[in-house]
Amino acid sequence: MFKQAKSILKETFGYDEFRPLQGEAIKKVLQKKDTLVIMPTGGGKSICYQIPAMIFDGLTIVVSPLISLMKDQVDQLNQFGIPAVVLNSSLSDQQYGINVSKVRSGEAKMLYVAPETLMMPRVRDLLSTLNVDCFTIDEAHCISEWGHDFRPDYRQLARIREDFPDAVCLALTATATPRVRDDIKSILELKDSETFVASFDRENLFLNVVDKDGPVDQILDFLYTRKGQSGIIYCFSRRQTDELYQDLKDEGHSVRPYHAGLSEHQRETYQNAFIRDDIDIIVATVAFGMGIDKPDVRFVIHHDMPQNIESYYQQIGRAGRDGLKSNCLLLYSHSDKQKINYFINQKEGEEKEVAKKHLDDLINYLETTDCRRIPLMSYFGETYQNRECGMCDNCTSMSEAMEDLTVQAQKFLSCIVRSGEKYGANHITDILRGSKAKKILENDHQNLSTYNIGKEFDRDQWIQLSRLLVRNNMIEKDPQYGSLLLTDEGRLVLKDKARVNGVLDRTQTAVDGSAAARTSDEVENRYDENLFEELRKKRKEIADEQDVPPYVIFPDTTLMEMAFYFPQDEESMMGIYGVGDAKNKKYGSKFLKIVKEYCSENDIEERKREIKKKTKKKSSSKKHEQIGIDFNEGKSIDHLAEEHGVKIPTILKHLKTYLDEGNDLDAEGILKSCDLSQRKVDEVMESMDKVGPELLKPIYEDLNKSVGYSELRMLQLYHMAKNDS
Ligand code: ADP
Ligand code: ZN
Repeated sequence: MFKQAKSILKETFGYDEFRPLQGEAIKKVLQKKDTLVIMPTGGGKSICYQIPAMIFDGLTIVVSPLISLMKDQVDQLNQFGIPAVVLNSSLSDQQYGINVSKVRSGEAKMLYVAPETLMMPRVRDLLSTLNVDCFTIDEAHCISEWGHDFRPDYRQLARIREDFPDAVCLALTATATPRVRDDIKSILELKDSETFVASFDRENLFLNVVDKDGPVDQILDFLYTRKGQSGIIYCFSRRQTDELYQDLKDEGHSVRPYHAGLSEHQRETYQNAFIRDDIDIIVATVAFGMGIDKPDVRFVIHHDMPQNIESYYQQIGRAGRDGLKSNCLLLYSHSDKQKINYFINQKEGEEKEVAKKHLDDLINYLETTDCRRIPLMSYFGETYQNRECGMCDNCTSMSEAMEDLTVQAQKFLSCIVRSGEKYGANHITDILRGSKAKKILENDHQNLSTYNIGKEFDRDQWIQLSRLLVRNNMIEKDPQYGSLLLTDEGRLVLKDKARVNGVLDRTQTAVDGSAAARTSDEVENRYDENLFEELRKKRKEIADEQDVPPYVIFPDTTLMEMAFYFPQDEESMMGIYGVGDAKNKKYGSKFLKIVKEYCSENDIEERKREIKKKTKKKSSSKKHEQIGIDFNEGKSIDHLAEEHGVKIPTILKHLKTYLDEGNDLDAEGILKSCDLSQRKVDEVMESMDKVGPELLKPIYEDLNKSVGYSELRMLQLYHMAKNDS
């Protein structure tokens, strides 16, 4: 029977292999052994009951809490040619009747129901006459009061299950906490059962935490290179949601808001528009996401700090269910942290302890300088085996981007001490930079020995350094007055007994893991974007005709493979990810036609599949020289970033060092990696001539924020390279 399962996987779903634990779980279900499956979102739980359902003679009942998701699932199954129906209160009488008769006649292999429907006498009567082989409970954590989503109706399921003594019970959830797990087992009476717990590491999510500093611009920078991608931006409050929505809309983004203050109709309309790719971005409170099964969400941004790791993980989990690389960006502000701390201190007793623990775990994740997967996985009770994942900001910025900041840190710390630990970062910066501000003169700070000793950094850099010192627990901010105080660790630095290494600028949002070639997939990196766009258009057209979301027709991965392998006939088409028998019959030829036309117009040949090899270059001691030489010989900045597995700003830094050492740099070569039009480039050059090329912020402002920091940084080097030669 298991062999049959594998062939269904390939022929019906178009997937080559089972994901971890899918095969094992299916085996148990087919042996009629009760099973609990715990997998993260996107792990592939559905297949665990969908494939057995196709093999069993009788019916598979799937209990699911959300009507909207049921419909989506049934739509998807029907596309794969699997006869599934749903029974719920939203159906018309006529459709309800049709579905009932499909169940009765045995035509439907799967029945999706909400628990309350299952309890209705007429439904129980109907089912009592049928041969039910599998009783599946999706989102099984809803049974537990300890879960985040308790549904009293789920409690009745144990009783209902007695109606089907011959059915195997399969419970599935993405909630891993042991308490919930035990609850599920005992309430459903899964006595002699198997439990499968998959790893909670979602390898395709790039985890990025940056210091919040002008969040709207940071988000605009991030979105800058992601036009047309689907994403969710979470905000703390409704007001914040509305404001950010307005800002993004004003900048021309395709965006809608979502929060509990909107009417149900509006929320539904916006959610649908998002699912159907009619709009790109949803700015939302945590109210958004439960009923969303969209597999191609490419990014999730947290504009504010999430409540705890559990909800953060659930929210970022909505990105990249299709397994393609997706970005999770969090804007972290220390004042958010203090705000939350303040609220926690208002609480009492156990509640306070729990909240404190939650915050500590979250902060631990946000402030780590190690791979972010280490604290994240350990929260879920897993030990992360690797030291580096290559898919978080800390791993990709790697050691070479770290600078020794001990001297500047000593200046900063000493200035705090000399001014009596009474001032915030801005004032300390003013002293260090020799400002003549009123507050300086009033306090006689121009006579401090640390006055005017910090010209080597601009304002931004000093502020960034202060954040780094807070992160490293070398200084603390007084919660009431905002003044900076030294910690014991800070005193060690001042006494030259500890060093400070770090990455100064942690506000850049536009970076992601794409430069780090280590985990990247060849298809994902090198597919033909023009063809992909044409295929997407076709997909949207078909989806609208059929009134379903585009991903139900084919996921992005399928289109990407088409735009990489360029299949020329049906046989090659069947080799593409996600193309099974039914979908091939329905759509294969339509997509094949587009691919073939595109190939003949552009003189492209089909690409044969081969085994991919990943290579990793080793680093040399004088990296910037090697990079400078390679660059002058024609290697692009992007290429170098990929080759060295670092971010673009890091390459720029190396090139700058190379330039500073008196070497020439091929200025025009820099422009190759810059996406701006020549007109825009000239505008930036003029601005740099006017306000000076050293500081980016004044240039950014001078250009009315029309050019993102990542581009400015590149053009800054261009400006220097040109004027040097
Ligand atoms: P979950 O319910 O655990 O969140 P899904 O069952 O929705 O996850 O699966 C997530 C995505 O992974 C879906 O797009 C699904 O088609 C795909 N998928 C599942 N199993 C496999 C597999 N063995 N190979 C390739 N893709 C798979
Ligand atoms: Zn990492």
